[in-house]
Amino acid sequence: MKHVQHFIGGEFVDSANGASFESTTPIDNTMLATVAEGGAVEVDAAVAAARAAFDEWAAMHPADRGAILHRVADGIEARLDELAEWETRDMGKTITAAREKDMPRSALNFRFFADFARDAGTKAWEQRAKGILSYELREPLGVVGSISPWNFPLMLLTWKVAPALAFGCTVVAKPAEQSPITASILADICRDAGVPPGVFNVVNGFGPDSAGEALTTHRDVDAITFTGESNTGRAIMAAAAPTLKKLSFEMGGKSANIVMADADLDLAVKESLRGIFTNQGEVCLAGSRLMVERPIYDEFLARLVDGAAAWTVGNPLDPSTKMGPLVSEEHLDKVLSYIDLAQEEGAKLLTGGHRVTDGELAKGNYVAPTIFADADNSMRVCQDEIFGPVEMVMPFDDVDEAIEIAN
Ligand code: NAD
Repeated sequence: MKHVQHFIGGEFVDSANGASFESTTPIDNTMLATVAEGGAVEVDAAVAAARAAFDEWAAMHPADRGAILHRVADGIEARLDELAEWETRDMGKTITAAREKDMPRSALNFRFFADFARDAGTKAWEQRAKGILSYELREPLGVVGSISPWNFPLMLLTWKVAPALAFGCTVVAKPAEQSPITASILADICRDAGVPPGVFNVVNGFGPDSAGEALTTHRDVDAITFTGESNTGRAIMAAAAPTLKKLSFEMGGKSANIVMADADLDLAVKESLRGIFTNQGEVCLAGSRLMVERPIYDEFLARLVDGAAAWTVGNPLDPSTKMGPLVSEEHLDKVLSYIDLAQEEGAKLLTGGHRVTDGELAKGNYVAPTIFADADNSMRVCQDEIFGPVEMVMPFDDVDEAIEIAN
């Protein structure tokens, strides 16, 4: 069994009071790891370490910081298989996606921002006749708190941490409690790559009344970069207001795809399926509303249902699996409750709509690829983010109307 610690000031540590929580794998809901549960005390220590490391890190030439961050990317690439397997076990995404998408992109996040920070430079605008020179100067802000979700654990965390580090800030990261393992491996990689102690810290824990909230209210944290649910964003904005932190948010979605009658149907069907079933539908930009022009509506639905059958649900460690389990039993219940609601609201179930319980899968959080037809945009299932493999399809007659509904 793995034990995940905090990473504070360059050291792996447990919580001062010894608190920890259990992390299960959605593959069969058995225990995967114990995780140190941090709170205000650990956040205080991590922020102090980040503050102490700031001046020196901020004063480094961006190219020198960049060289270290490229070594972090090298480390991610060198440990790619290990990282991918933990990510899959921790949150249920397919091993193929973890290996081919999430981990390479996590390394690329470091490479991209290392080079971007080196080249971004300073801009100046002169009005020589008036003796005026205006300029835009990029200065490191200070200590940045990074709060990230579970659906792309390492990819989204690195997308926040890499730019902050590259531009000279120091970071305290709070990974999602459902999927904390790869953040801790990243800390190890950072240490090996020569990231100075205190520059990158990780505190594990929950949101409200826990490490997340402690970070958003801390007087010595200058900015919060957050990705997660819109309601959490509201809470963070309120919590950060008294200390006037800078905020950067990426939140939930209910994106619409619009398919016109003259579309290439093979391509439109393939991309619609990919849009909703990739990563079990646990994607902020999932195409979870699908609007199809009336003349092709019936044919499109038939093809969609056939295509859904090809999205094999199974153990995500098997490379042939296209859809793994949902991240937690709690999230499984939420998605199943929306499937019930869709039927209550009058949408027509075409395929899926149930938990998958074949053999070993009965132990995990698997849901069949689900397609509802004849949905109406006013239904709650068309307004709320379900965040699972559930597509709501609706016909339209007029493109302007479709765009209005999509918006
Ligand atoms: P979440 O909002 O429940 O949790 C995200 C993070 O916030 C976690 O680390 C959590 O511990 C922390 N948190 C929760 N409450 C907090 C509080 N009061 N104070 C401080 N921290 C708090 O989101 P989730 O369920 O982990 O992720 C799914 C959501 O993320 C979906 O809505 C999805 O659309 C969104 N998302 C958006 C993007 C994007 O780029 N727009 C990308 C991925 C996910």
